[in-house]
Amino acid sequence: MNNPNLPLVYHANYSFNFDPKHRFVMSKFARLYQEVDALGLIHNNVYSPEPGNPSPLESVHCEQYVWDLWRNQLDAKMMRHIGLPWSEQLMARTFTAPLGTLKTAELALKHGIACHLAGGTHHAHYDFGSGFCMVNDLAFTATHLLENNQITNALIFDLDVHQGDGTAAMLKHNPYVYTCSIHCEKNFPFRKHASDLDIGLEVGISDTHYLEIVAHTLESLLVDLNPDIVLYDAGVDVWQGDNLGKLDISWLGIAKRDALVLTLCQKHGVPVATVIGGGYDKDHQRLAKRHAIVVQQAAKL
Ligand SMILES: [Zn+2]
Repeated sequence: MNNPNLPLVYHANYSFNFDPKHRFVMSKFARLYQEVDALGLIHNNVYSPEPGNPSPLESVHCEQYVWDLWRNQLDAKMMRHIGLPWSEQLMARTFTAPLGTLKTAELALKHGIACHLAGGTHHAHYDFGSGFCMVNDLAFTATHLLENNQITNALIFDLDVHQGDGTAAMLKHNPYVYTCSIHCEKNFPFRKHASDLDIGLEVGISDTHYLEIVAHTLESLLVDLNPDIVLYDAGVDVWQGDNLGKLDISWLGIAKRDALVLTLCQKHGVPVATVIGGGYDKDHQRLAKRHAIVVQQAAKL
């Protein structure tokens, strides 16, 4: 039985007309929305953030950086590091998505669980972007919730296959947000920034061992930290067929992972907000199906 009231967060500006040959699949957000709809998970449960701009992001990012980015005034080297061509539509989605992650977290605090059909831009740093990430929705959301006294502490549990270097660096001096990244060690970013807990996996790890590590790690963090919220980056680039992955996690393995993360949070009474994180595939529809896994698992709770 699916929970018809599972809150979902989405904005129509997340996807826009974009080079279909680019490694970053810009259509995946709209495709994911359609996929979730086809699964019968959309009723009156979809919330949208307001279209964003750099102002709210000044709370965690360098003011100069976010406004230079917004106005297309970053130099070519900084844009190359981001890896996406500047456009007004790209800016609209980039500055709206963090507000979507914040909304998702607020809905999770109210309802116990909520899913963002975007988010997880964990390679964005204080004053530069990297790896398709320009602003860090996870650092922004956790900081905003703390500053507004909506929570006293948070756990960012990042299972994208790439290390959450930007999140780690941006929250390094924040004792109220615990960052945990479980990723492939020999993968981007090659210069890692220390999270509160980093688990670097061997290339080619498969389901059983991976799921044991995830379960054991999350269980102990929930017990030790008793967080007011978990922000869960459910990156699907751990999949064995992912273009940028290097792990050997099956499709079923991802479903089991997401089910176990969400069930553990529920068991410990901790609200959980999910973001989709990374996923790379020449088959764009298959990628959308992969990102829908976490929503399907959330709807089953
Ligand atoms: Zn990734």
